[in-house]
Amino acid sequence: MSVKYYEKVWHNGKFIPWSEATVHVASHVVSYASCLFEGIRCYETPQGPAIFRLKEHTDRLVNSSKIYRMDLQFTREQLSQAMVELVRVNNIKNCYIRPVVFRGYGEVGVNPLKNPVEIYLLAWAWGKYLGDEALRQGVDVCISSWQRIAPNTLPAMAKAAANYMNAQLIKMEALTNGYVEGISLDIAGHVSEGSGENIFVVRDGKIITPPLSASVLPGITRDSVITLALEMGYPVMEQSIAREMLYIADEVFFTGTAAEITPIRSVDRILVGKGQPGPITLSLQERFLSIVQGQTNDKYGWLTFCNQPVGARS
Ligand code: PMP
Repeated sequence: MSVKYYEKVWHNGKFIPWSEATVHVASHVVSYASCLFEGIRCYETPQGPAIFRLKEHTDRLVNSSKIYRMDLQFTREQLSQAMVELVRVNNIKNCYIRPVVFRGYGEVGVNPLKNPVEIYLLAWAWGKYLGDEALRQGVDVCISSWQRIAPNTLPAMAKAAANYMNAQLIKMEALTNGYVEGISLDIAGHVSEGSGENIFVVRDGKIITPPLSASVLPGITRDSVITLALEMGYPVMEQSIAREMLYIADEVFFTGTAAEITPIRSVDRILVGKGQPGPITLSLQERFLSIVQGQTNDKYGWLTFCNQPVGARS
């Protein structure tokens, strides 16, 4: 594994070594993609490691499991506490936490209901997802020839592994053609999202993002950015975005746990604005980073400090 991973892994309530966190190839998940996951960042702050929006990530995992009828056997509180423990036992300063829930080894065949539900919590060190310079300089992206999963095919609101077969096609096509990321359109041809990020457009001082009905994942960074933008006095709208709007927007940016707030400097080789990160994007990025890194008062209670009891807020 090329990233630095943390040795202790949480599995169904117990810590096990990273090397033992394995599955049998006959497990249901291997043939049928019956897997849900999350991606959460734990930031280094002056008050020690802090997990960003732990409650919302846990809620989304529980929602994904509800959609797919998976019984988690652990409460939200137990799962949240386990993630705090994961940070503590591994002595982590900052990391990316990956909860994984899947149908394990039991019966063969499509019917998932007889297979045990396994839960793992892993952690590794992850830098800037779209490249070291991405946050400062912006990235070059394309519109994918692959569309986003259509409504009522695979549920976009669940963070399910199967959705990422679609995401992989988008990502591979983009990389093959020399772009950092691809943006998919929804079934109606409107802008949906990146392969692992939500998208925002700035035009005439207004901030616009596609609605959840455009087959987007309800991103937690998306929600955070909407909250911060409103607080900073910008009008924010959730509305359908035409593909060509990306070409004539003043600013375009991605949001995501891994990508944080990444400016987009060109789409299909057409420069966005002046081809460099715009002022609204940068002001949101600065505000976001100062909150997650514990440099600004966390007035929304978004950080869970791992060296304090769960639920304790700054
Ligand atoms: N869309 C997709 C498809 C994603 O994989 C992600 C990353 N989880 C996002 C959007 C952004 O969501 P979040 O801000 O919760 O990480």
